[in-house]
Amino acid sequence: MKVLIIGAHGKVGHLLIGELQSKNIDFVAGLRSQKQIDAFEANNIPAQFIDLTASLEDIHKSIKDSGADVIVFSAGAGGAGYDMTLQIDLDGAVKTMMVAEALGIKRYIMVSSIFSDNRDKWDASGIKPYMIAKHYADEHLRGTDLDYTILHPGALTDDETVGKVKLLGDDEAGSIPRIDVAKSLASIIKNPNTIGKEYNIASGDTPIDGAFN
Ligand code: NAP
Repeated sequence: MKVLIIGAHGKVGHLLIGELQSKNIDFVAGLRSQKQIDAFEANNIPAQFIDLTASLEDIHKSIKDSGADVIVFSAGAGGAGYDMTLQIDLDGAVKTMMVAEALGIKRYIMVSSIFSDNRDKWDASGIKPYMIAKHYADEHLRGTDLDYTILHPGALTDDETVGKVKLLGDDEAGSIPRIDVAKSLASIIKNPNTIGKEYNIASGDTPIDGAFN
């Protein structure tokens, strides 16, 4: 197993690297600049260039060159504006799904968002275009023949690990430290029972390793 982390320079991506290292899971960090690649490689972290705004052909080459057989999508435009949200969180994600299918990379794990499937919550969220982008990226993934898992975390914090989660109902809100999202992803990667499933998560009382079935 070799995991390509798309968005490895991000906060969750960084933390996921540590979790995969501690579990001895092989990975490659997907990064969008040579400067980032140089910095990661200087720390002995394997890296692969991937720019989600690039052409389908270039993204195909990046993912093929990574040698990965599992993709974790944890990229996002963040505060770069809704034009970039469309290009990265929606079209960038969909392009990686198309490439995964073309290359026969079956396993695909998406970091989505809480309420991406709950239109009633979008107006009050203050980030409706982001919700729409996440919603339709998830919808596309459900329509592929990929072995997907979709994680819908609540608001992300930089707090220390709780190590425990709660599976939320569709209308429930919550928050979760990014480190526990990373731990959840590392747990899901190794668990075939999570294929075809979606989880809304926040901090809670269930140890992460037993939470996803
Ligand atoms: P983050 O720190 O902003 O990381 C996002 C990463 O995406 C960054 O490393 C960024 O690269 C990368 N990226 C941006 N444009 C790219 C491109 N064109 N090609 C390749 N990579 C690109 O986000 P996070 O806090 O770790 O969040 C991880 C995920 O959780 C995101 O998908 C986010 O939407 C989702 N989420 C967030 C919340 C929340 O409360 N914030 C809640 C639920 C879900 P650079 O480092 O070079 O900018």
